[in-house]
Amino acid sequence: MRITCPHCGARDAQEFTYLGAADLKRPDGMAATEAAMTDYVYQRENPAGTHRELWYHGAGCHAWLVVTRDTRNHAIAAVEAAKSRKTGAAA
Ligand SMILES: [Zn+2]
Repeated sequence: MRITCPHCGARDAQEFTYLGAADLKRPDGMAATEAAMTDYVYQRENPAGTHRELWYHGAGCHAWLVVTRDTRNHAIAAVEAAKSRKTGAAA
């Protein structure tokens, strides 16, 4: 699999480290229930299809990227710098 880093161009996936789902939201600190924190820490989706993921370009520019990838065939639809994404603030 090759990932096109917005800073470095197309590179082998071995240069990157996968973190997980890009849209995972941490529950609100002390107000979160134990069940909500348990879900946040341990429960993960395993989608068959389009998935937004965080990848770290450790052997390149050291940037965090959001990669939109189809988990069925590894086709990458989009790559963007993580710092440029919306943070889910009030719309
Ligand atoms: Zn890069």
